[in-house]
Amino acid sequence: MEYLQANSGGNDSIANMQLMYEKGLDFGVVYNNTGWARKDWPERIKQVADWCFARGITFFETKSEGMEALVKRKKGWPMPASAMQFCTSELKEKPTLELLDRIDANCELTIVTGRRREESQNRRDLAQHQDESPKHGGRDVWNPLYLHDEAMRDELIKRAGFEVLPHSSMECYPCVCANKTDLGCMAKNDPRIDEIEKIEIEMGFTRNEKPRTMFRPYRVGGGVGVRMAIEWGHGKRGFKAPFVPEAYIFKGDATESDSDIAYDENTKEGREFARQCDGGYCGS
Ligand code: SF4
Repeated sequence: MEYLQANSGGNDSIANMQLMYEKGLDFGVVYNNTGWARKDWPERIKQVADWCFARGITFFETKSEGMEALVKRKKGWPMPASAMQFCTSELKEKPTLELLDRIDANCELTIVTGRRREESQNRRDLAQHQDESPKHGGRDVWNPLYLHDEAMRDELIKRAGFEVLPHSSMECYPCVCANKTDLGCMAKNDPRIDEIEKIEIEMGFTRNEKPRTMFRPYRVGGGVGVRMAIEWGHGKRGFKAPFVPEAYIFKGDATESDSDIAYDENTKEGREFARQCDGGYCGS
């Protein structure tokens, strides 16, 4: 095996594995199970694993403690596009490096991702090759789809025998970087909202008396708590959260945590917020 393809099950990942296959390259595929995927996502990943099996391609799946346990251990939610976006490092990067230590101790593999320049502003200068990526244990990274547009990508997906999804990967549902469109796509009665609300309430309040919510309020129209964030997602442009739900009103019990950045106000991290983490581990 010469290459290891990082695969989130999203459109770009499927196109990427098809491209590698058509080129006749010797590669394996790795999926990071974050324990936070949408309910139907394991079925999609099974399709990927079956596709690999049918072609003699090795499929790996990494496991981790999962988002809920991670958030409780860290006593806070990850902060997108900052040093505190610890979900990527804990749920994906570390498990991948552990796998690589086992299967590629001499760092000979090249890591392949399906990232494309066209996807977003913060990928517009993406290089085709990255030498000695520190996030991949010093291995080289190859982004063969870096110049592919959506039509070219979709052709590859169809040739792979997969449907083109109308949304991004659901490996994390929702992603901490979810935007208004992503949150607006979640049904208001989605059970995942209840799960998040339960965790948020259990997480309590920061030293500054702010509730520890998955989405920082200033990013979601001032909405405090996941239910208000979802309302913002469904709301018109300029929607502002109408009230703070009772469970998120401080009643005099604060704790300290290193993860407590930017729950309460706009900050440098907030202004620099990017919609995607871009270490090569998180799909779009
Ligand atoms: S997809 Fe989103 S929630 Fe999942 S690890 Fe990446 S940044 Fe974190």
